[in-house]
Amino acid sequence: LSIEYAQKEKLETIGQVAASLVHEVRNPLTAVKGFLKLISESSGNQEKVHRYIEICVSEMERAEYILSEYLAITKPFTDRREQVNLNAILQITADVMRPYANMNNVELQLQHEDGVCRVMGNPEKIKQVLMNLIKNAIEACYDTENAVVSLTLETFDNEAFLYVRDNGIGMSREQAERLGSVFYSTKAAGTGLGLAFSYQVIQELGGSVQVRSEPRKGTEFAITLPLCEPSANAV
Ligand code: ADP
Ligand code: MG
Repeated sequence: LSIEYAQKEKLETIGQVAASLVHEVRNPLTAVKGFLKLISESSGNQEKVHRYIEICVSEMERAEYILSEYLAITKPFTDRREQVNLNAILQITADVMRPYANMNNVELQLQHEDGVCRVMGNPEKIKQVLMNLIKNAIEACYDTENAVVSLTLETFDNEAFLYVRDNGIGMSREQAERLGSVFYSTKAAGTGLGLAFSYQVIQELGGSVQVRSEPRKGTEFAITLPLCEPSANAV
């Protein structure tokens, strides 16, 4: 899959996620407006004013964080290859995708071990892979009540195991076998590029993907990646 296609897919993805981001930023704006009103009315109660300001600052910081991570993801891919902390990147991507999950009534769960889990690769591409998998999992839940997408990261020996699970629509064996082919999509607004790109990146990382799926039950993507030895200048 060429880098132009990968970039096109990325823009498509972030475009589709944008609407949920608007909500994520509007909510803190509304909250801050309310607290500013309270502050202007709370004549002289320093303790209250202090608490309201603290809430405002943390609300603004959260909105700013999500926006800047979202914007960082929209930038064109670079060619860098470095030690990447998968734990941190998974956390960031989950934060960026949580508004999209909320908008689709999907609970997004994240379980990972503390500390670092380093792989050698391009952090922007890895974020994009995670975003694709999470987005697909959320979209697979369009018809599911109590929809849950769970992200689990574990390490064992010299490997990282990342599981993206959903209790959504699932796939038949025939469908599952077509995964990763360019332009294979069952969605009206799908590009069929997300998984093709993701599989390519995982291969570049020296990893592998296994899919287990059952129609109307859900799907599990299990990604295995080789870990690298920690070094002093790692991110
Ligand atoms: P797109 O999302 O644009 O359709 P992708 O390459 O991301 O393209 O996915 C290709 C196809 O694989 C989807 O259209 C869908 O049919 C199937 N698919 C991917 N992930 C899942 C999932 N978690 N559950 C069910 N089907 C999935
Ligand atoms: Mg997709």
